[in-house]
Amino acid sequence: MKYYSTNRNTSDVSLKEAVVKGLAADNGLFMPEQIKKFEPAFFAEIQHLSFQEIAFEVATKFFGEDIAEAKLKEIVYDTLQFDCPVVEVTESIYSLELFHGPTLAFKDVGARFMARLLNYFLGKQEKLVNVLVATSGDTGSAVANGFLGVDGIHVYVLYPKGKVSNIQESQFTTLGQNITALEVEGTFDDCQHLVKTAFLDEELNKQLVLTSANSINVARFLPQAFYYFNAYARLKEKGKLDNKELVISVPSGNFGNLTAGLIAAEMGLPVKQFIAANNENDVVFEYLKTGEYKPRPSVETIANAMDVGAPSNFARILDLYKKEHSVIAGKIKGYRYSDKEIRTIISQVYSESDYLCDPHGACGYQSLTDYLTENEVGVFLETAHPAKFTETVENVIGKGKVILPEKLAAFMKGKKKSEQMSGNYDDFKTFLLAQSF
Ligand SMILES: *Cc1c(COP(=O)(O)O)cnc(C)c1O
Repeated sequence: MKYYSTNRNTSDVSLKEAVVKGLAADNGLFMPEQIKKFEPAFFAEIQHLSFQEIAFEVATKFFGEDIAEAKLKEIVYDTLQFDCPVVEVTESIYSLELFHGPTLAFKDVGARFMARLLNYFLGKQEKLVNVLVATSGDTGSAVANGFLGVDGIHVYVLYPKGKVSNIQESQFTTLGQNITALEVEGTFDDCQHLVKTAFLDEELNKQLVLTSANSINVARFLPQAFYYFNAYARLKEKGKLDNKELVISVPSGNFGNLTAGLIAAEMGLPVKQFIAANNENDVVFEYLKTGEYKPRPSVETIANAMDVGAPSNFARILDLYKKEHSVIAGKIKGYRYSDKEIRTIISQVYSESDYLCDPHGACGYQSLTDYLTENEVGVFLETAHPAKFTETVENVIGKGKVILPEKLAAFMKGKKKSEQMSGNYDDFKTFLLAQSF
């Protein structure tokens, strides 16, 4: 399958090129030239398939032309070594728990898939492939853990010294093997600058194979469709969709997750309505209301993975629906919540339904409460485990109430190992060249 750029100012590329390059030459985002549909019969029987089986069917629609069946199956099954279950919160609202992977957030799915796909495409290269990733916390941990132990690839995680939480830091500084953590003197933007400069440095790129692993990569973005199909299958299995239609709410930042859901719907998944749940960073909410898209600097909130002022995947949403505002506003309903509201929601859901939401999932839950009518069932994406935001959550429900999952506790016990790095590009370049093999 070919992939085109949303800016439509450069030629189409192969899957391999889209995955290795990440961003199109004209700075657009790659989109598959064709979105293949499932037959209605597939959905009539989908409840009999396991999550992995469903994911393999979906992956075949995307990647079946480019990867041999047995290999694709291996990549999908190896990626999904954990479940994405649907858990009842109220009679009509369910949580799609995406936090059962190694770093307890949904980004594990895309990062693990991308690592395996990159290994398949580049694994036989003689030269080591170097993945550079700048992180403000969560992306670094998902990418580092996704690529951990994958042959032929070395990952450098750049993070701002003293500006990520201890839990986050432990998830990429304690791994060793093919993961190197670089503790940068500066801010996230400084880390991002070092990475971007490296990609543009011709001399460096002659000596080292460099690639990125950010969320605009199609290999991270498309696999997120897997769990939307699973949500439908598991609700059908429970008999919850017998006379009801499905509404799905997605806590959104860069809108990659929601866009993957929209693509699932284009493939035939019966979803009546999507909801984009936001915090105070509400540029898409405003767009849905007014038709005007006005990106602006983000503001800090307690749902910080959604603190995005210019969502990168918005370009994909515009492309999918030919920039028609009325169509987009029909497909997606917007809701937004202040920090104060998010705290109240976490507290209410905890006391009324005995379910603990993280600050992002809380926005998803509330939007369903605000939207749902009688003949609908709602699912919100619980994008991270509440223990990743222990401080915020315990401020609401009380100290000592959030139990640290074994997986997170294990990271905390590991020994931190990181390289100190100035924010100066020449120092970074010298370091990278000294690492070459
Ligand atoms: C990344 C992230 C989001 C936002 O996802 P997008 O695909 O960028 O919209 C939401 N919640 C959590 C916990 C995240 O880590």
